[in-house]
Amino acid sequence: MKRMHCWFGCTLAWLFVTAGAYQTMAQEYLNGIEWKEPAIITPGATNSEPPSDAVILFNGKDKSHWKNADTWKIEGDALVAGRGSITSVDEFEDCQVHIEWSAATPAKGSGQGRSNSGVFLMNKYELQVLDSYDNKTYHDGQAGAIYKQTPPLVNAMRKPGEWNTYDIFWTAPRFNDDGSLKSPAYITAVHNGALILNHFELKGDTPFNRPPEYKKHAAKGPIGLQDHGDPVRFRNIWVRPLSPVEGKQARKPFLRNGDKETPIEK
Ligand code: MG
Repeated sequence: MKRMHCWFGCTLAWLFVTAGAYQTMAQEYLNGIEWKEPAIITPGATNSEPPSDAVILFNGKDKSHWKNADTWKIEGDALVAGRGSITSVDEFEDCQVHIEWSAATPAKGSGQGRSNSGVFLMNKYELQVLDSYDNKTYHDGQAGAIYKQTPPLVNAMRKPGEWNTYDIFWTAPRFNDDGSLKSPAYITAVHNGALILNHFELKGDTPFNRPPEYKKHAAKGPIGLQDHGDPVRFRNIWVRPLSPVEGKQARKPFLRNGDKETPIEK
């Protein structure tokens, strides 16, 4: 009798589960949006190599993609910081940036004086480059900081002379016609594979001597690399301009169950 009881109960449970699953399988949610097919690109052979849609800013060979770079020297496959900051010829709005950099060896100086440089998005918003390996400074000024706004989530520095990688995901700020801020800039960044900035909302630009502020500027801007007097080395610099996915709401979202379609009213 006990066994019979179990058989009955188990069968009943199975029927319920199966019926539930069938119902879930049979009914499909459709959002009613007709998406444009995402562009097909060819990824790089490794994650540090540029995908086919990247704009190459430095490939180890020439400085033609940079302005004011006369005193920046190419040594081996690296671009070594010289006198005066440089800016890319190409300008970008929302973008993905890949850049590799190496602090000078042997390490010289301390605090902000050790292999200081910076990646300036739109030539205004600094992601700090600094030798933060065994080198203390204020936390919102160490490597991976948005200068004077936030420290990185972690310190993922490699030793001086070794190559660091920044992968940056940048959302440019937007401005209204009257010059007021429409939406702030956001940055996500990965340092040597570790997330250091997670959709951080910038409070404005990143100067040393005053609070951050937003001032209306062009929709696009160049990438800047800072000269802070230290021979920081850069290589393998590329940028992918980002544009939003495209689609149109062709109809209201609906549920499909066989031939039956039920609009979802919200
Ligand atoms: Mg700097």
